[in-house]
Amino acid sequence: MTLRTLLLDMNSYFASVEQQLRPELRDRPIAVVPVVADTTCCIAASYEAKKFGIKTGTRVSDAKKMCRGLKIVEARPRLYVETHHRIVEAVESCIPVSTVLSIDEMECRLWDNERTVDDAVRMAKLIKETIRRDIGEFLCCSIGLAPNRLLAKLAADWHKPNGLTVILQEELPQRLLSLPLRAFSGIGSRMEQRLLKAGIKTTPQFCEQTPQQLAKVWGSKLLGEVWWRRLRGEDVVDPPTKRRSVGHSNVLPPQMRNDMDAKAVMLRLLDKAAMRLRRIDYWAGTISLRIDYLDRESWQVQRELSHCQDTTTLVRAAYKLWKEKPSDTPLKVGVTLSNLVSSNNVAQPLFDEDRKLNALSTAMDELKERFGLQVVQFAEMHGTQPLDPKQAPTPDRIAFNHIPDISNAGSKKAASQTSSSKLSSHQLLDQMAALLNSQNATENLEG
Ligand SMILES: [Mg+2]
Repeated sequence: MTLRTLLLDMNSYFASVEQQLRPELRDRPIAVVPVVADTTCCIAASYEAKKFGIKTGTRVSDAKKMCRGLKIVEARPRLYVETHHRIVEAVESCIPVSTVLSIDEMECRLWDNERTVDDAVRMAKLIKETIRRDIGEFLCCSIGLAPNRLLAKLAADWHKPNGLTVILQEELPQRLLSLPLRAFSGIGSRMEQRLLKAGIKTTPQFCEQTPQQLAKVWGSKLLGEVWWRRLRGEDVVDPPTKRRSVGHSNVLPPQMRNDMDAKAVMLRLLDKAAMRLRRIDYWAGTISLRIDYLDRESWQVQRELSHCQDTTTLVRAAYKLWKEKPSDTPLKVGVTLSNLVSSNNVAQPLFDEDRKLNALSTAMDELKERFGLQVVQFAEMHGTQPLDPKQAPTPDRIAFNHIPDISNAGSKKAASQTSSSKLSSHQLLDQMAALLNSQNATENLEG
């Protein structure tokens, strides 16, 4: 009995909710957008629209060219969240949900008596029927059944819409060989590049690697082995982190040895550390600040947090700590995030404030990676010279001293706040919404 997990993925989720609630949209190509504008991107497309090649991230102006009858529908996030809760309830009337992975994706662990193919398939069909009956016939899902989550996700993605795919232990690795590398959740563009560099171009080559060879690609002995074992159907728990902390410190140049500049530098260091935290896909449970002074002994303080990885939550915590510091002449500022846990070991925040903040942070990271560290920053960092001389300042800056509400992602008000900037918050919000909908491919490079 090798089936251990059931993974459910709603198909074209936002678009399907709209088609369920608005009969006039049914059987039509529709694209859900955060705001009705040609410059924005689709955050979901119905299956009828997908036939024309329209998908999450397609620009609305392009989508309209790809399909002339396309109906543009403004997103209603609150409804998608409400529907999500109803779907979880419907699934739970069949089998307990062990992990909610995203707004349209959840995992249910199978118990010993549910692990035969017949029993597991019967359960999957019951779930599909229950969703159709309780929520609506236009809400389809694809379900994957497999020996572990990696393979169950692969199975769920195999047939869409309305798929039901089983991957058995004894079919490994033959069953996987025809898939592209990017089909594996966790292999995003960056990881794919690393695999290509190591000469691994196809899934058969990927499956042939020894744990040691995979360890070289992942830069971690532990992760290399985890991947090797998961590809073989083993149900490996996520490795504990060896990494203890992420932190930065900086000696202030003489002209910046004052409270205001020290605070701006602290924020910049924190921003950098938080970005690093997200890149390695860890969450921090402790934040600490340290200031060395010119004329007095150094000051250090630390606080426990409920695990987080978004810059805004960390900045709020840092602000509170900052108030406690002595007001002498600062010489050196340091920020450390510690008590780290891997993303896989943290319950993902859902849809509320936390989720928005994470999405915002990720969107900011993307912008920074594309346009440089200076492109988006907290208002307090303004006017401070970048501490890394390689990072030349760029003219287009967006100050984020407050967090826009994603439920207002479509509001013109939010967009107009930085209308003079080339990269408007409007565009940022578009990206954010698209990110909210996209799968969080983790590229965990360190163990
Ligand atoms: Mg989906």
